Amino acid sequence: MSDPDPHEELRLMLKALEQELAQKRKTELSLRARLEEIEEIFSLSIDMQCIADINTTTFLKVNPAFSNVLGYKEDELLDRSYLDFIHPEDVAPTIAMINEKLKEGKEVINFTNRYRCVDGTYRWLEWVSHPISKKGITIAVAHDITERKKVEAALKESETFIKTVMEHLPIGIAVNSVDPEVTFEYMNDKFSKFYRTTKEALSNPDTFWEAVYEDPIYREKIRKRVLEDCATGDPTRMFWEDVPITRKGEETTFVTAMNTPVPDKQLMISTVWDVTAYNNSEATLRETKRLLEETQGISKLGGWEYDIAAQRIIWTDEVYRIHGMAPSDRPINLDRAIGFYAPEQRGKLEEAFRLAVERGIPYDLELELIKKNEEHVWVRTMGQPIFKDDQVVRVTGNIMDITSRKQAEDALRESEEQFKAMFEMASIGMAQADPQTGQWLRVNQKVCEITGYSHEELLAMRIPEIIHPEDRERDWKAFRNLVIGKLPDYHAEKRYIRKDGSIVWVNVNMTVLRDITGHPTRTMATIEDITDRIQAEEERAKLQDQLLQSQKMESVGRLAGGVAHDFNNMLGVILGYVELAMGEVDPSHSLHAYLKEILNAAMRSANLTRQLLAFARKQTVSPKELDINDTIAGMLKILQRIIGEDIHLGWQPGANLWPVKLDPSQVDQILANLCVNARDAIAGIGKITIETQNLTIDHDDCALHAGCVPGEYVMLAVSDDGCGMKKEIIGNLFEPFFTTKGVGKGTGLGLATVYGIIKQNNGFIDVYSEPDLGTTFKIYLPRLISKAEQAQTEDVREPASRGHETVLIVEDEPATLKLTNLVLEKQGYRILSAGTPGEAIQLAEKYTGDIHLLITDVIMPEMNGRDLAKRILSLYPNLKRLFMSGYTADVIAHHGVLDENVNFIQKPFSVEDLTAKVREVLDQE
Ligand code: ADP
Ligand code: MG
Repeated sequence: MSDPDPHEELRLMLKALEQELAQKRKTELSLRARLEEIEEIFSLSIDMQCIADINTTTFLKVNPAFSNVLGYKEDELLDRSYLDFIHPEDVAPTIAMINEKLKEGKEVINFTNRYRCVDGTYRWLEWVSHPISKKGITIAVAHDITERKKVEAALKESETFIKTVMEHLPIGIAVNSVDPEVTFEYMNDKFSKFYRTTKEALSNPDTFWEAVYEDPIYREKIRKRVLEDCATGDPTRMFWEDVPITRKGEETTFVTAMNTPVPDKQLMISTVWDVTAYNNSEATLRETKRLLEETQGISKLGGWEYDIAAQRIIWTDEVYRIHGMAPSDRPINLDRAIGFYAPEQRGKLEEAFRLAVERGIPYDLELELIKKNEEHVWVRTMGQPIFKDDQVVRVTGNIMDITSRKQAEDALRESEEQFKAMFEMASIGMAQADPQTGQWLRVNQKVCEITGYSHEELLAMRIPEIIHPEDRERDWKAFRNLVIGKLPDYHAEKRYIRKDGSIVWVNVNMTVLRDITGHPTRTMATIEDITDRIQAEEERAKLQDQLLQSQKMESVGRLAGGVAHDFNNMLGVILGYVELAMGEVDPSHSLHAYLKEILNAAMRSANLTRQLLAFARKQTVSPKELDINDTIAGMLKILQRIIGEDIHLGWQPGANLWPVKLDPSQVDQILANLCVNARDAIAGIGKITIETQNLTIDHDDCALHAGCVPGEYVMLAVSDDGCGMKKEIIGNLFEPFFTTKGVGKGTGLGLATVYGIIKQNNGFIDVYSEPDLGTTFKIYLPRLISKAEQAQTEDVREPASRGHETVLIVEDEPATLKLTNLVLEKQGYRILSAGTPGEAIQLAEKYTGDIHLLITDVIMPEMNGRDLAKRILSLYPNLKRLFMSGYTADVIAHHGVLDENVNFIQKPFSVEDLTAKVREVLDQE
């Protein structure tokens, strides 16, 4: 690189300066040209333009257009404040507007005001102003809008005029656009007033329809029509409608509404006027028609007429009533009228109506009508075209409410159907027959099943043919008696012979259907197969018998036991003495042979008592007149035996007791059963009381007992102070096999038997019982009104080895004690004898020698044999023990008195039995 040349550098700088200067000149030139251009535009512009000083508000520059419009010369404006030219009313608003916009920092300000012309008039100017703050000027352009303002004012005036006219018209008027829904462009006050709602409600498309049309069906119809018609824009599709306007709690008013589509505009003009007054003026006319209406009301027949030319329909009051409307709901039009019919039926009516109008064809229809209150009714409506010069001009007709007839028809049809279904499908046989011949007329499937015959076969038969020969005559008689009205109804259980020859039991209920004159037309019967039931009944009866029998066995068994005990004691005594006597008489002596005979007889008697149980089973009932007191008294001893000595048996016979009629053995059974139950209810020591009493039972008493008949009764009560019963138990008491006792102990047949006996004798039984408070059974037996005999009873006897030991004998029955003593004494034993356990203990305590054997009865008052034996054993540890009892070993074991494996001898015993047993026990190790 060489050093730079300083000249060259200067030259270069100069050149640059020249270039810059030339550029500047160029710019200046173009600027000037531009300015001139602007000046020219400014002065040539047809817009009014001006420049003003922001601070002094004086015009700095105005263009010719500006001064020309206002009629001033330029000088007359320059340097003068623009405020001087503004209409005094507009000054303040203009300043305010400008300041406000400036404050907001707006660069363009629009406003309008009036400027004074040279001739003193004002012109409306519309301003666009550009304030340029940093230069302190504003540039503004204005348009003269005076003419426009004038037009506007004129328009406003004419609009006001039209509105005034609209508002003062006696009709409501509205302009709606209908794209796509009805929207109000305009409506006058009367419009909403006639519809008795607010402009707001009408203006809102959501509420409009409901605000005007109450009836939803009609509303929808009109809505569709309005939308469709307006879409056509065809003004000839103008239509009118009568609308009743009801508002809650107010009287109905009526308007006629006319809707006219506007061509090409999707607009519709609606006019409405109030026709309430017109409607009301009809009142006079109505009055004159009152008679007609009333007649129609009575006959439920309404009349109507449709004028084809006027498209007007007239209804009589009755028609309104049939529609559930008040006559004041008028007027009506065809669409609404048809709208009342059930939707699926409208087509039918419309078609019939069209044919009447167009072709003059009358019609007669039954249709379902939906009343104003939504109630459905059936009407019959008839239409008759009326001609004038071969042209149908009107259709007139009537309408009648036939709901009740329809309902009756329906009910009849339904019941017929139901009957048919029931008849065919019934699980019970049903049949109809000819009341005269008994010929089957109609039978259902079940009858075929029961009889085994087919429908056809049965219909060819008469009732008697199928009935079992043994039932036939009786049945036919009943059938005829029913038909001739001698019998009110017919229920019979009878046998049919089935087709296959087998027998079927049926239960037949029959009635007769008669015509209005009472003449029998047919019989109606239900036939039920009851073969199973009859069989079950027979089985039950058999079972009942068996039950009673086994029950009898149980009770008589106990009885027999009791009787045998007593009887055997006596037999024992007889046998014993006979044997002793025989021992003292020489066998060759004739007395010995006599004694032998007595002995044999007594033995046979003892066998007899043993057979008592078997005998009792076959016992049949033979009721006779009884004084129950006697029967019971005769039982007491046995009963006491049954219940045992731990329980005291009380007896309170009623005085002058009436006689009753029943088998005495049944009284025994009743008492035995009740006493056994009472005994079982008492744990340990207790009391059973038997009472009798005469009682007269009246209606009121009877109300408390099922199956009770008022009358005179002998009451027999058995009470105990045992455990009593809970309610649940009382409810089941008399059921066979109901027992609360353990397996093997109770049979549940006792009370069932008692119940059976009482029923058999037309009595009844009552129970009173509370847990822990004891139980009373009260039996009521009907009094026998007559006099008669009594029952009798009768009685009978047997017994010995040798010894030297001391024997203590304890027995509460003196005869037995005495005999036992005698027998053993004769055998060589040393005898200590006691009648009670107490006595025995005393004896044993006092006695100084040894006692080898204790012979004791088991069941005794005070103390039982086992306990006694224990006591004496404590005194004589080597004591041998022999127990005797009239009860079987089983009964005694059940009583809990004896252990097994003890020495036991059953009474009655023979002398030999006793002496042998004594020896055997004494000889035991
Ligand atoms: P069973 O004595 O064999 O049980 P019953 O027909 O004689 O049959 O009695 C049925 C039931 O009635 C008894 O199991 C018992 O619960 C109850 N019952 C009967 N009599 C009395 C009574 N006097 N006190 C308490 N309960 C009784
Ligand atoms: Mg019992």
